[in-house]
Amino acid sequence: MYKTIEDEVLKKAAPAALKAEFLQHEFERLHKFCVLIYVASVVIWIIYDLILSFLGDQSFTWHSLVFIGIFTINIVVLLFIRQVRHFHWLNVVFVFCIALGTHLLTDGIPADHQPSWRLLAASTMLYSASILPLSRWSFFAAQIITWALLNPFYGTHIDVLELKGVMALSYTVFLCALTVYSFLTLRKAKLYNFIMSRLLLDQAYIDTLTEIPNRRSFMTRADKQLHATPREHDHYLAMIDIDNFKKVNDVYGHDIGDEVLKRIAQNIKAVMSPYEYARLGGEEFAIYLAGVRREDAEALAKELCKVVREYAGQHPVTVSIGLARVLDDDTLNQALIKADAALYESKHTGKDRYTFHQELSVV
Ligand code: GH3
Ligand code: MG
Ligand code: MG
Repeated sequence: MYKTIEDEVLKKAAPAALKAEFLQHEFERLHKFCVLIYVASVVIWIIYDLILSFLGDQSFTWHSLVFIGIFTINIVVLLFIRQVRHFHWLNVVFVFCIALGTHLLTDGIPADHQPSWRLLAASTMLYSASILPLSRWSFFAAQIITWALLNPFYGTHIDVLELKGVMALSYTVFLCALTVYSFLTLRKAKLYNFIMSRLLLDQAYIDTLTEIPNRRSFMTRADKQLHATPREHDHYLAMIDIDNFKKVNDVYGHDIGDEVLKRIAQNIKAVMSPYEYARLGGEEFAIYLAGVRREDAEALAKELCKVVREYAGQHPVTVSIGLARVLDDDTLNQALIKADAALYESKHTGKDRYTFHQELSVV
C-alpha cells in the first residue's frame, strides 16, 4: 500500500513554490553546518598557508592577511544570513575567494606537486559543495569556479597525453561526475522526504473535507497560545455548531450537506483568519481568540452569525456560537467544556445567536 502511495507522490513533479520552500527549510536546518564547513575550510587554508610560509620558503605576506580578512567577512555574513537565496550568492563568492587563495598557495609549491595539490583542494571543495543546501545554479557555479582556478593543467607544465596528465584528467572527470551525481541524487532524495513529510503533516493536521485545520491541529496550537506568556489581553474560546444540520442532510442529501460544511468553513476562515480555527468534527468548529477584549470577541461572533445568515445562495443555514473567557488556570479542555455549555444555551434560546458562558448576550 505504502509503495503505491509513494510511487504516486514520486510521479508528480514538485511545484516550484514547494521546491523553494524545501531549499529554505533545508538551509534553516543546516545553517550551523554551513558555518562549520566555512570555518573548517578557512582553518585548513590557514594551516596550509602557514606550512608553506614557514616550511616552504614562502614568506607570510599581507596577501595572506587580506585573504583571511575576506574569509572572515564571508563567515560573518553567513552568520547573519537567513534567506537561502542570499546563501546561494554568498557561496559563489566564498568558493571564488577560497579557490583563488588556494590557487595562489599552490603557485608557491614545486611545479611537480602542483597538479596533485590542486586536485586535492578541488575535491575537498566540490565534496563540501555537494552536501551544502545549494540550488543547482549555485552548485554548478561552484564547479565552474573551482575548475577555472584549480585546473591541474593550467600553468603546471603537464601534458594531457603523458601518464601524469592522463591520470590527472581521468581523476578530474571522475571527481566532476561523482560530485554532480551525489549532489543531484542527494537533493532529489531530500526533496522527496520533504514532500512526503509535508503530505503526512497535511493529512494529520488538515481536515480533508473542509481543508481547514482539524481537531489535532487546534488542540496543539490553541494549547500553545493558552500557555503563551505574558497575556496582553483576554483569551476567548468559541464553539460553533450549524443549526438543524441534520435536516439539510435529510432533505438535500449528504453531498449538499458536505458543500454546506465547506461553505461554513470558508466563512469562518474569512471572518476569523487572524485566529486559530478548526473543524473539531461533524458540524462543529472551534476558534481560539487570543489577545482580544470581550467587545472584540462579541463583534467577531456577531459578524460570523451575520455572514452565515445572509448567504444569498442555495441551502442557507445559520450557526449558533458559545463563547467562554479562558481563565489563567483553565486547561484547554476546561475552556472547551465552558464554551460548549454556552453553545448549549444558544441552541436552547432560539439558535442563530452567540452566548457568553455564564452571561447571556443575545443577538
Ligand atoms: P442542532 O441545531 O441542535 O445542532 O441540530 P443538528 O441537526 O444540527 O444537530 P445534530 O448534532 O443532531 O446533527 C449533526 C448532523 O451532522 C448529524 C450528522 O449526520 C451530520 N454530519 C456529521 N458529519 C458530517 C459530514 O461530514 N458530512 C455531512 N454531510 N453531515 C455530517
Ligand atoms: Mg448542529
Ligand atoms: Mg452538533
